[in-house]
Order: sequence, then structure tokens, then C-alpha cells
Amino acid sequence: MRRILDAQRAWIDAGRVLAYRTALELDVIKHHPDPAKRETANRWCTLVTPVLKAAWTDQAFTGASACLQVFGGHGYVREWGIEQHVRDARVAMIYEGTNEIQAIDLLVRKVLPDGAKSLLTLLNELAADLPAGSAVAAAALQQFTNFTREQLLVQTQAAGASPELPYWLADDFLRALALLLMAWAWERIAHTPGADVVRWRAAQNGFWRWVWPEFEMRMAMMQASLSPA
Ligand SMILES: Cc1cc2nc3c(=O)[nH]c(=O)nc-3n(C[C@H](O)[C@H](O)[C@H](O)COP(=O)(O)OP(=O)(O)OC[C@H]3O[C@@H](n4cnc5c(N)ncnc54)[C@H](O)[C@@H]3O)c2cc1C
Repeated sequence: MRRILDAQRAWIDAGRVLAYRTALELDVIKHHPDPAKRETANRWCTLVTPVLKAAWTDQAFTGASACLQVFGGHGYVREWGIEQHVRDARVAMIYEGTNEIQAIDLLVRKVLPDGAKSLLTLLNELAADLPAGSAVAAAALQQFTNFTREQLLVQTQAAGASPELPYWLADDFLRALALLLMAWAWERIAHTPGADVVRWRAAQNGFWRWVWPEFEMRMAMMQASLSPA
């Protein structure tokens, strides 16, 4: 039960950081006098919006289902209301663009057409924004950057590459980017004054222990799609 609750907080707290940051960037796009700042904000919103929509609506459903489990058999009956959350959350993976279409939007419409230029700039900005000592997140950002530059772009754009290939990769790509954004958010939370208390530490530990290992799994799944046996 502790694992379920800490992992849930890990998703929700990082999701809030990313949602608030996106809301601020939307204001910058609309109101900032400096065109360079508007361009940076536009890059963030263009790339991060499909990630937020897809990864956090997936989590809304799986997280609500996990939280139903905390109630045991009582979770399944109507009186507690948790089963209603599970059903209500399910539709968010479908409407406003299904999550598969969000993943395609990210990789096929936004990342590949400009040779990943915008994405690589965003990854650089995230790396520069990490607090000192964020070794795991920094290494993962570098790993994802190298993968994008040296494998993803090269193999999807190679002569004779299957036009279906990016579609096979899209879900794993979005999910890996979601986890990187969470790692960035958790490093920022952890280095904020006042965060060294159980409320934040438990969720931070939950992130690195229960949520983060999926990053390597998604990278391995992309490698397998790029080099099928
Ligand atoms: C409760 C509810 C309210 C809604 N409200 C509105 C509304 O107010 N306004 C509105 O315009 N629409 C609304 N919709 C419709 C909603 O936008 C669509 O259901 C949604 O876009 C998915 O389209 P579809 O149902 O035709 O599924 P399909 O397009 O038939 O997709 C079926 C499955 O295949 C996947 N898929 C489709 N194409 C691809 C592809 N190229 N690659 C990979 N996977 C693919 C999809 O992700 C999906 O999982 C609502 C839907 C629901 C359930």
C-alpha cells in the first residue's frame, strides 16, 4: 500500500510541476515582449503538451485503479466513490486525441520533421536547468539525446527505412520523454528549500524506486524496434 501511495504522489507532484510550468509558458507565448523568450516558451508547449496529455491520462486511470486496490473489496463498491474515478478517468485516454495519436503527434509531426532540432534544444535546456548533483537525471538526458541523434534520426531517415517505423516507436518515445521530464521535476522539487521532509522525500524516493526504472525499459523497447531480431 505504501508503494502504491508513494508512486501515486510521485506522478501527481511531478505532473503538477510540469502543468504549472506549461501554464506559465503559455502566458509567456501570449504576453512576453522578447521574441526569443516567446520562441523558447513555444518550444516547451509544443513538445510537452502531448506528453502531459497522454502520460498523465494513462496514469489517471492506472493510478485510480491502484488506489481502488487500497480500499480492498470496499473499493469496488459504489459507496466509496473510488470506482467512479476509475471509470471517469478512463475516457481521458480517448478523447481530446487518443493517447496513441498524441504519441504520433509528438514523434511524427513534431520531432522528426525538423531533424529533432527543437527536441534536442529542449533536452539541452532541461539539462542546463538541473540543480547541481542531479547525476542520474543528467546521464539519462544525455542518453536520450545520444539515442535521438545517433539512432532514431539515422534509422528512421535511412534510405529504405519502413515508413511504419516511427509509428512503432511513438508510444515508447513519448513515455521515455515523460519519465525524463518527471526526473527533471523531481530534481527541482528535491532541491527546493523545505522539501527535506517526509511529505516530499517519500514521494521522491517512490519516483526513483518504483517509477523511474520504466525509462530503461522504454529505451530497450525502442532499441528492439530499431533492431528487430
Ligand atoms: C465521452 C466522450 C465524449 C466525447 N466528446 C467529444 C466532443 O465533445 N467533441 C468531439 O469532437 N469528439 C468527442 N468525442 C470523440 C473522441 O474525440 C473520439 O472518440 C476520439 O478522438 C477517438 O476517435 P474514435 O473513437 O473514432 O477512435 P478510432 O479513431 O476508431 O481509434 C480506435 C483506436 O485506434 C487507435 N488509432 C487510430 N488511428 C491510429 C493510428 N494512426 N496509429 C495508432 N493508433 C491509432 C486509437 O488511438 C484508438 O485507440 C468524445 C468521445 C467520448 C468517448
